Amino acid sequence: MKLLSTGNPKVLKGIKQGYNTYILHLAPARLSGHEVCPKRTVGCTDSCLNTAGRGGMFKRGEVTNVIQEARIRKTKLFFADRDAFMVQLVKDIELGIKQSHKKNLKPVFRLNGTSDLSWEKYSFTIDGVTYPNIFKYFQGVQFYDYTKVLGRKVQGISNYHLTFSAADGNDGDVTKAISQGYNIATVFGIKKTVPMPELYLGTPVYNGDESDLRFLDPKGVIVGLYAKGKAKKDTSGFVKYPTISLKIAA
Ligand code: SF4
Repeated sequence: MKLLSTGNPKVLKGIKQGYNTYILHLAPARLSGHEVCPKRTVGCTDSCLNTAGRGGMFKRGEVTNVIQEARIRKTKLFFADRDAFMVQLVKDIELGIKQSHKKNLKPVFRLNGTSDLSWEKYSFTIDGVTYPNIFKYFQGVQFYDYTKVLGRKVQGISNYHLTFSAADGNDGDVTKAISQGYNIATVFGIKKTVPMPELYLGTPVYNGDESDLRFLDPKGVIVGLYAKGKAKKDTSGFVKYPTISLKIAA
């Protein structure tokens, strides 16, 4: 079973910047019977990108498709046989590194494409050697994710970058995350033709839709994202509506 995929349009923008991104998509929330999003909210669960693109294309009368089924299979394997899952993940990452080098691109990996697991916690054994986590096995390879889990023990893991995600009802965590130096990904309910606000919560906004390469973002910013798919209809508070101030000519 292949675990990683490429090809999402935003990820493809990274190629222009010299990066090849591989994403692991698990079945989010509790869809597999296992919770993989411990801090999910009503709004983010409803607007989850799990059903974006081909993942959301269902034949008439059907409520699942091959992509959703594959995500559920991968998630079940992760919980049923961690070492088998990690052996496959290591193989996929090694292949991604080779493929990228052939194309003269830098490989980067995002393991929480549609989940929010604390990957730093998952040790595994390969060929009799136990590694504390996947980042230690692939030292020097860049990983990144978005998370709503505060207090993850990632200090000292120099090849794993995290951006904190704002959602409905996690304002307190957002304030703490800002004080801990995280950038904050925030979904704005504005059209793509409208520029991002300059400031939000008194903090400069950086357009996060230019690419998905969050580890290249400047520090101390709100990473603004345009609402997509179901998020365009969100009323939970997951999507934020910034006040746009217009400069009026004198
Ligand atoms: S935490 Fe992320 S992956 Fe999980 S349901 Fe919310 S948006 Fe989806």
